[in-house]
Order: sequence, then C-alpha cells, then structure tokens
Amino acid sequence: MAMILEKLPGLTKGLPGGELLLTTSDYFIDLGRRQSLWPMTFGLACCAIEMMASYASRLDFDRMGVIPRASPRQADVMIVAGTVCKKMADPILEIYHQMPEPRFVISMGSCANCGGPYYDSYSVLKGVDRIVPVDIYIAGCPPRPEALQYAVVKLQEKIAKMSLKKGLATAQQEKGSRDINA
Ligand code: SF4
Repeated sequence: MAMILEKLPGLTKGLPGGELLLTTSDYFIDLGRRQSLWPMTFGLACCAIEMMASYASRLDFDRMGVIPRASPRQADVMIVAGTVCKKMADPILEIYHQMPEPRFVISMGSCANCGGPYYDSYSVLKGVDRIVPVDIYIAGCPPRPEALQYAVVKLQEKIAKMSLKKGLATAQQEKGSRDINA
C-alpha cells in the first residue's frame, strides 16, 4: 500500500497505523475515467466474435476495468465491431447520443473503418466515422482480440491526456456526430 501511495501525486504523510494522502479530486476522476472503460454491448457482424473472445478467459478484459454494459446510459465507449449497414446507421447514432459524455468510439475492423469487403455495396456505410466521431481505428478483417486490447490501451493513453483541469474532455465531445450523407 505504501508503494502505491508513493506513486500518487500529492502529499503523503505517515500516521500511526496508516498513511494520509492529500491530492486533487481531478486526479481521481481522470484515473477513474481512464481505467474503467465500460463498452456498450452490441456486435454487428463477424468482428463481434473477436470482440466477444476478448472478454473471455484468455485476455480477460475485466482485469483492465473493461466491463461490457447492456445499457448505453452506463457505457462510455462504443466498440463498432462489424459491417455497418445503412439501415443500422440511425440506431447506432441513437445509441451514441444516449451514452453519457465524455464518450469514445473504437472502430473495429475494415468494415467499420471503410466498408471493408463490402465497400461497393449499395447498402453498406463506407466507414462508421461518417456518422460518429471515431477515436481509435483497428485494421484487419477481422482484427484479433490482441488488436482490440492494444486499441483499448491506446484509448487509455489518449484519455490520460484529457485532464479534467485542462477541459480537453469537453473539447473532444464538441466534435459531435456527423451527417450520414457527408
Ligand atoms: S472486417 Fe471482416 S471480419 Fe470484420 S465484419 Fe467485416 S467482413 Fe467480417
């Protein structure tokens, strides 16, 4: 415990029977935001199988604080795993707007990135970034669970730079969503 306290920013004082730590609430809010990413649970196509495998025993995302939620109101990251049909664009946008801010988006696989093998299809959106702002893109068809794990680490690094004090979390969200026909 003493080692952990030494690494925290702020003033640590030894007291009989324990230690006292004085730090800022910003630090703890930023730490919580970064280390407890709760993804919205939904999958669109085959990439979702790889996403499900990420939560299973081998990689065990729970140990990274990544715990899937069944309600967008409890989720702060959306993992778009699979082909985004135009028919699904509106529901995705609606779910995105139901998530509390700051919210983040990971585009998983070629289909979500740009349409993938269905790029020429009349019914497939050529990238989910046409409707929601994407923070991290994962290449591959499909990407392996390790790639998704790497993306989560990269997103955590990005969030680490968005200190509450600097107000960057709000600036990030001001990007807003995009027009599907853009
Ligand atoms: S990128 Fe490949 S694996 Fe992923 S949803 Fe598209 S076709 Fe399926």
